[in-house]
Amino acid sequence: MDVESLKKAGKIAAQALEYGKQLIKDGAVIVEICDKIEEKINALGGSPAFPVQISTNDTAAHSCPGLNDTKKFNGEIVKLDLGVCINGMIGDNAITVDLSGKYDGMIHAAEKARDEAIKLVIKEFKTVSLAKIGELIEHTIMSLGFQPIRNLSGHGLGEYLVHIPPTIPNHDNGNNNLLTEGVFAVEPFSTTGAGMVVDSEQEPNIFSFNRQGPIRGMFAREVQQFIEKEYKTLPFCTRWLARKFGEGKTRLALKELHRMGAIHGYPPLIEKSKAAVAQSEHTVLITDKVEIITKE
Ligand code: MN
Ligand code: MN
Repeated sequence: MDVESLKKAGKIAAQALEYGKQLIKDGAVIVEICDKIEEKINALGGSPAFPVQISTNDTAAHSCPGLNDTKKFNGEIVKLDLGVCINGMIGDNAITVDLSGKYDGMIHAAEKARDEAIKLVIKEFKTVSLAKIGELIEHTIMSLGFQPIRNLSGHGLGEYLVHIPPTIPNHDNGNNNLLTEGVFAVEPFSTTGAGMVVDSEQEPNIFSFNRQGPIRGMFAREVQQFIEKEYKTLPFCTRWLARKFGEGKTRLALKELHRMGAIHGYPPLIEKSKAAVAQSEHTVLITDKVEIITKE
């Protein structure tokens, strides 16, 4: 494993998160913040492992504005989730910023659950089960008066892969496999609602390459080739493509590629009871010790 690149990616992810946090203010145009954070990641020597995601209120994840989206922040609870890739190695982290002033406790619950889970991984070094980590996350969040989101989870991170097994659950999922060596994202979500997310009706803006297919449209084929070459197995968004190919053509091409199964789409995930959601995330490296790599 290229630990040096991994640690560099983690450090840049933490720096970009801190930078992004300062930009989340009422009146700021959300898409401009995404652009600025991605530019910062590049300037620091990394590249985005996936499009910067800014999800508000009851949207838990996978929210990414289109190129011409004019939406501004206006008193929401905001999740900023970003990943940095260097030579295939990925650091993934997230923070919640509350512009409403109502959710300090809920944010604290997600952060505490993350930190307690990491402490447990250190204490029961390579002998802790996935279920036990999930149980602790669930217990920590519930003891503070909130619900964890049970169908969202942490995950392993691989080379050019943002999500690989195992699932690091946010509740006791009964998986007694142990967490041993590797790179893992610990990623609890807390909510005042039911604790489940569902796909929203909105069109996805985040995609990843799935497979080669018999694509009829000449333009869709061109976009497909670009995606495969440029992003490999990493997620990408309409905004990035629209900048290169134009908004209208991008939409048409993505529609065809999606329909043909050449790409996966990730629609925004919203809390089932439409309740506010907070998120917190660090990436840890387990070798002969446990290290949090998404730190400045
Ligand atoms: Mn993340
Ligand atoms: Mn993650």
